[in-house]
Amino acid sequence: MDHSELGYEMVGALEAYNSQFVVAFYGGKDSQYCDSVKQVENVFGCIGLQNAKHCILNTQYTPEEYAELKEKLVEHMEETGEYGEFFPVTVSPFAYNETAAQDNFPLQKTDVESNDWRWRDVEDKDIKYSQYRIPDNIETVKDDVLENFLTCEQCKKSYKIVKRELELYRQTGAPLPHECFNCRHMNRLKQHNPRALWHRQCMCTQPKHDHSSERCSREFETSYSDKNPALVYCEECYQKELN
Ligand SMILES: [Zn+2]
Ligand SMILES: [Zn+2]
Repeated sequence: MDHSELGYEMVGALEAYNSQFVVAFYGGKDSQYCDSVKQVENVFGCIGLQNAKHCILNTQYTPEEYAELKEKLVEHMEETGEYGEFFPVTVSPFAYNETAAQDNFPLQKTDVESNDWRWRDVEDKDIKYSQYRIPDNIETVKDDVLENFLTCEQCKKSYKIVKRELELYRQTGAPLPHECFNCRHMNRLKQHNPRALWHRQCMCTQPKHDHSSERCSREFETSYSDKNPALVYCEECYQKELN
């Protein structure tokens, strides 16, 4: 059972009922602005509580006190413009460029910092260079790689190879990566098409029917831009080409 109802702006919520602006919310109802709570009811602005009712900022109140104080807080938050919005970026435990925000809404460091949001670069003093040299061929990699840390060739952060990864690389014959997990993730994202659509026409050159010279002229929206050299087909022509 993991269904939720009447939820709004929730991240990682399970079995949540009538709750809004919550993070890591496991089983609870009628609550707002909570982080990492479990089995709660009528709690507001709380963190790390379990089996709790009528709490505000992790303080216990009677149901009457709770209702009265919550109303005051909501009124105040409406004035400041905070009420109805998710937690602000400034309370995130992560820097902007360490999160999926940067994957989906990439910004420059200067833009992030001008919003008073955090940005984190690897600093020279934090770099520890690994003595381990990654063999080019997976077959010559020994188990001692698991006890070593590696230095990312791209961002210089340290990373490790864990046993299950090593098993997979050995099984597939793929070489060990020279970049850390995050750089590999970013490199993969760079290969995605841009988040935009172009109006294009089917480029299939096959005649539509036998004994006809008429070509497909179907138009559609695609994430392949008109500058992308890839051939774009309408779905029907694509399926035909595959068969
Ligand atoms: Zn890296
Ligand atoms: Zn077509």
